[in-house]
Amino acid sequence: MTDQLDHLRRFDRSMRELRRATELLNGLPEEMRSLHEEYTAAQRELEALAAEGAAAQLDRRTAEGQVADAQERLKKFQQQVSRVRNQREYGALLTEIDAAKSALRGLEETTLAALERAESAAAALVERRQGFEDLATRYQAALAAWEAEKPAVAARVAELERETAALRDELPKGVVAQFLRIVERFGEGMAPIQATERPGGGFIWHCGACNYRIRPQVAVEIKTRGSLVQCDGCRRFLHAGDE
Ligand SMILES: [Zn+2]
Repeated sequence: MTDQLDHLRRFDRSMRELRRATELLNGLPEEMRSLHEEYTAAQRELEALAAEGAAAQLDRRTAEGQVADAQERLKKFQQQVSRVRNQREYGALLTEIDAAKSALRGLEETTLAALERAESAAAALVERRQGFEDLATRYQAALAAWEAEKPAVAARVAELERETAALRDELPKGVVAQFLRIVERFGEGMAPIQATERPGGGFIWHCGACNYRIRPQVAVEIKTRGSLVQCDGCRRFLHAGDE
């Protein structure tokens, strides 16, 4: 017997499965996710090391240029020594020479530090790349396996789309609209009814999602006639639960 409640449940199941299959198709299988994260993290690390190395090389070249300029300046001062005319000029020139020498030393240290940074980044990059190769191979293999699996998932999505649309067309439009609003709000549009034994005998029925009380005759209608009833508490459509 196909009652409306049974129909709505099938629509619900089909829609959920469609959602899962679509998510899978647009994303990655569960078992591939941690590998994907590991791979992207390692890739980011490699990129960061390469960027660090490039920045250090740039710093080194800049500092080398400044060293050349400073050497040139020092040479000019030294050439002026033979042309000084008095003690005062000589003293001033010596001060300039000392300042130029000290600037040159600072720049040489900067060059050396940049060179060391570039070298250690390059060494770290080589080391990390070796470790990355194995990970990249595993990742590519998993990706290829997933690509091979995709057409079947896409076919399942298409099948579920047809099935969901057909089930939807057979339900009253108002029911579908209400149901979809509840799904949007709670993530699920249906809830099972649940029974608690009354101390004096008999059962108390309530909504399995929000615990709101359900009158016994409503519970009977849901169970025996498959009537469409919404919970007065949360508005979810109630069903008798899985046997
Ligand atoms: Zn409820």
